[in-house]
Amino acid sequence: MDKDGIAMALIVQKYGGTSMGSIERIEHVARKVASWKQQGHALVVVVSAMSGETDRLLKLAKSIDPRGNGREFDQIAATGEQVTIGLLALALQKLGVPSRSYTGWQVPIHTDDAYMKARIQKIEPERLLADCKAGIVPVVAGFQGLGPDGSVTTLGRGGSDTTGVALAAALKADECQIYTDVDGVYTTDPRVEPKARRLDKITFEEMLELASLGSKVLQIRSVEFAGKYKVPLRVLSTFVEGPGTLITLEDTQMEEPLISGIAFNRDEAQITITGVPDRPGIAAAILGPVGDANIEVDMIVQNVGGDGHTDFTFTVHRNDYERTLELTRRIAAELAAKGVSGAADIVKVSLVGVGMRSHAGVASKMFKSLAAAGINIRMISTSEIKISVVVDEMYLELAVRTLHKAFGLEERQAA
Ligand code: ADP
Ligand code: ASP
Ligand code: MG
Repeated sequence: MDKDGIAMALIVQKYGGTSMGSIERIEHVARKVASWKQQGHALVVVVSAMSGETDRLLKLAKSIDPRGNGREFDQIAATGEQVTIGLLALALQKLGVPSRSYTGWQVPIHTDDAYMKARIQKIEPERLLADCKAGIVPVVAGFQGLGPDGSVTTLGRGGSDTTGVALAAALKADECQIYTDVDGVYTTDPRVEPKARRLDKITFEEMLELASLGSKVLQIRSVEFAGKYKVPLRVLSTFVEGPGTLITLEDTQMEEPLISGIAFNRDEAQITITGVPDRPGIAAAILGPVGDANIEVDMIVQNVGGDGHTDFTFTVHRNDYERTLELTRRIAAELAAKGVSGAADIVKVSLVGVGMRSHAGVASKMFKSLAAAGINIRMISTSEIKISVVVDEMYLELAVRTLHKAFGLEERQAA
């Protein structure tokens, strides 16, 4: 951006729920924004609701309609961010920084009509750019948009990250900074492994895997968006100064670490149908009705038995567990299978690293380390840059720490 002949950077900063968690914290964020502005940068700020607020709002909605997830849920959930944009704009004004708050529909940020998981389709950046040119700092509500029929929509939990990145793309910003309560992306969640180490850099591809496999530090869609539109993305702390973690396009000069990080997902549940007559079409007969019921299946394993029967195991989101179990019992009866069992107390633990492409032996080292720690593996799935295992939930911390140590993640310098 060029103003009065002085080249300035246009930066989108997103502040998460913890950073917005109290009036003191909002005033702290206002001081940070003011200092960036003083350095001559143009800023567009995106904020989340106060921490815990979206949970509280959704709980209220569920207390009336436990199964609903349509238009009114979004109407309710979106109010959390409407409060914090106003508060931050006030705090900035108090510091003498001209600021104006915008809801998603005032920008507007257009989305499709998939309530609770809407996708951004188009952003009209003109108002925000005009503010920047006039020296005003726009504060935009994360997580929300305007549906095709004029309804309020929300982008899925953690969706303010995606608002930040999408705005940075639409505004052709020089950088998108995601400010949170950790000072970057770590080798694993520091809440589970205190020895986790901050990464200076990570590739989009690895970050996307980590996010998809359960690392909630960035919403999956924000990483997809940043990769697609090549938005320079950095994760930093609101509370401590530091360089944070840069999410980069793949850099061939970078020495590729074997493993970059460990992700885990507590949201899984496992269903097994035993003694299914082994004939063509069995997988479709089981998973067809599950898919028709809008239940997303994650991992699938089928064992071929010697007696003409097979066992079929798959995982679904824990929220869908009861529903899937019920449905699977009906399918099992139709197929004359022997039985159905399930477990909702399981987790998925995954190793991610682009270095896996060129190195064999990662899987066997993973399995050996888990075995030595006495952890039984229930399921395994692999792809080019990740290996996932399903284990009992009680082993989550032990599995993460065992693997973190086995792959030397605590010592190695960031690539
Ligand atoms: P915000 O409210 O700022 O969006 P989130 O709670 O969504 O913050 O994301 C930050 C949290 O993500 C951290 O507090 C941390 O516990 C968790 N996290 C999970 N995996 C990682 C990881 N690999 N690196 C850093 N933080 C992680
Ligand atoms: N407030 C929303 C949530 O809790 C969006 C966000 O914080 O990113 O999911
Ligand atoms: Mg978040």
